[in-house]
Amino acid sequence: MKTQFSLSDELMEKINSFARRELSKDEVYAFPVILCDNEIDRDNERFSVEALKTLSELFVGKTGIFDHNPKGENQTARIFDTEIMADNDRKTQSGEPYTALIGKAYMIRTSKNADLIAEIDGGIKKEVSISCSVAKKLCSVCGKDKTQQSCSHVRGRKYAGKLCHVILCEPLDAYEFSFVAIPAQRGAGVTKSMGDSGREFIFSDEEQKIRDALIAKALKHGFLLQPVLPLTELKSLLTLCDTEKLREICDGLTRAEKYRRAATYSHEENLGNKIYKL
Ligand SMILES: [Zn+2]
Repeated sequence: MKTQFSLSDELMEKINSFARRELSKDEVYAFPVILCDNEIDRDNERFSVEALKTLSELFVGKTGIFDHNPKGENQTARIFDTEIMADNDRKTQSGEPYTALIGKAYMIRTSKNADLIAEIDGGIKKEVSISCSVAKKLCSVCGKDKTQQSCSHVRGRKYAGKLCHVILCEPLDAYEFSFVAIPAQRGAGVTKSMGDSGREFIFSDEEQKIRDALIAKALKHGFLLQPVLPLTELKSLLTLCDTEKLREICDGLTRAEKYRRAATYSHEENLGNKIYKL
């Protein structure tokens, strides 16, 4: 897949639609980035090809940051164009032709970012992470939308020889992309739902409501089960889980609480009978 491109007049025009003043070819540095693709990632998730098409529109005009120097004014890039590229000779794990969303980004050349440009040119900086929100997360086995309901299929397991994964559909918005240093420092620090795949999901309002309800329910049952549980810490742990995992934890705690209650009642009943007999 050839992602390199040369700066045509047409592309310069697109760049200049974002610039405050007319820029010349010599002033800008333009480069491609693979934003995302339809291959199943380390989180056992992938984008649908339709989702990549929607993202290709959403990403135009979005900025990219470089993690090692987020404060530098010139250390940002902007996507001025996008392109969907498919490689028919390369099949993904789910059997589709490999398809990627390529972002064409530009930066203004300055003496301050000369090193950075050299790093990009040299291929040292090539991993990017993106943030976006999607409306639907479909189970690859049964097609249920995991943001709305649970199913018995576990991602990462095989069913009839096929790897169960989650298909990310209907992107609602794309926020930004960032270069991550190699070796990737992902998951370090306080980055919230940043998975190994380097995608940070911002939840849709609807999914956030479902998540809030699940967290509240899990905390309530957790407390009834074990009143000495450190609830604040538990809550911050729960917010790190994806919605699917959150639902599993919530169901588990609800079930455990139900058993506890049943056991307590039968114990009290037995006690009552004994007292009665006395
Ligand atoms: Zn399923």
